[in-house]
Amino acid sequence: MIIEHNTLKAFAARLVAAGGSRPDEVAIVADHLVEANLRGHDSHGVGMLVAYVRDFEAGTLRPNQAPTIVSDTGTISVWDAEAGYGQVIARQAVEWAIDTARVHGVAVNGLRNAHHIGRVGTYGEIAARAGMVALHFVNVASGPPPVAPFRGKEGRFLTNPVCIAIPGTTANEPILLDFATSRVAMGKVRVAHNAGKPMIAGALLDHDGKPTNNPSVMYDEDKRGVVLPFGEHKGSGLALVCEILAGAIVGSASVKTATPPERGIINGMLSIVIDPSRLNNHDSMMAEIDAMIAWVRSAAPADPDLPVLIAGDPERIARAERMANGIEVDETTWGQLVEIASRYQIAVPQ
Ligand code: NAD
Repeated sequence: MIIEHNTLKAFAARLVAAGGSRPDEVAIVADHLVEANLRGHDSHGVGMLVAYVRDFEAGTLRPNQAPTIVSDTGTISVWDAEAGYGQVIARQAVEWAIDTARVHGVAVNGLRNAHHIGRVGTYGEIAARAGMVALHFVNVASGPPPVAPFRGKEGRFLTNPVCIAIPGTTANEPILLDFATSRVAMGKVRVAHNAGKPMIAGALLDHDGKPTNNPSVMYDEDKRGVVLPFGEHKGSGLALVCEILAGAIVGSASVKTATPPERGIINGMLSIVIDPSRLNNHDSMMAEIDAMIAWVRSAAPADPDLPVLIAGDPERIARAERMANGIEVDETTWGQLVEIASRYQIAVPQ
């Protein structure tokens, strides 16, 4: 199924609205999901609506939920999203941090118990567009943890993503580093499983701890496999500190303390937003960023067909291609969305 992005967004909006969300929430969530598809991250695109509908039907996702401000010292605030839509409340939290960093130079927000905040890069992009540096550390608390620590064959983490965003210059787009600390995001395993495709090598172990590229090992209830952390002990360590920064330190639900499978998808996030002009002269900093990016791009590629890229490039390339040619939604995901649409008597695009 290849579908034009605006048509997909309108369909996604109708599915979100079925949960009773107000129009502003519907628009933010549908836009976030389709933007994830456009940027090549189908794992965090409209396919997530299957889980969102499951969760609003179960009451573990609360449409139209406003955050509770737990504390606010001026530059540090803690919000509790109380299982409201992460896409809406995480955006508000980052907007607060940007406004605060404009005044004070830096802002820290701890976001507790948001329902899935989606593609974390969305928040880095908002901050970078505002001229800010942003660091986001996220934990995920929902159901059995699929990601093994380095040397383990049992899951102890979820995919705990990290995002670091650096503002663009007049010559360059922002640098956007945004990835799961697992070798692949779980949604990518779901997409491969749905599409009947193998996973890349080095991402999965089966129940016995043997390497496999078969995504179905993650869906075998009795003999579940694990996803590996990226970069061996380095990704595993980053997953652990994400869990502690966004869980224990922010005060959000953690994979260890509170994760009955029926709680839905819960994210905690520690966001640090910095106005870089408080650290260095703006013009010389921008010139240095441009020089650094040019230096990195100038490295001769090991494979002439695979040029050296800067973080954020793959998403920009995917977006241009998918805006022009449409978004491919795999058959299983499409079938699941159509099934939900028929239950809620929602029109399905042809
Ligand atoms: P990924 O492995 O595709 O890595 C993406 C990052 O690597 C981006 O910064 C991208 O620009 C950069 N990159 C990719 N190829 C590159 C290249 N050749 N050269 C230079 N840079 C390159 O991403 P992922 O780990 O699959 O994560 C996908 C998405 O899932 C992210 O947006 C993440 O925020 C999201 N996620 C969210 C949650 C959640 O609970 N909310 C959990 C896990 C992941």
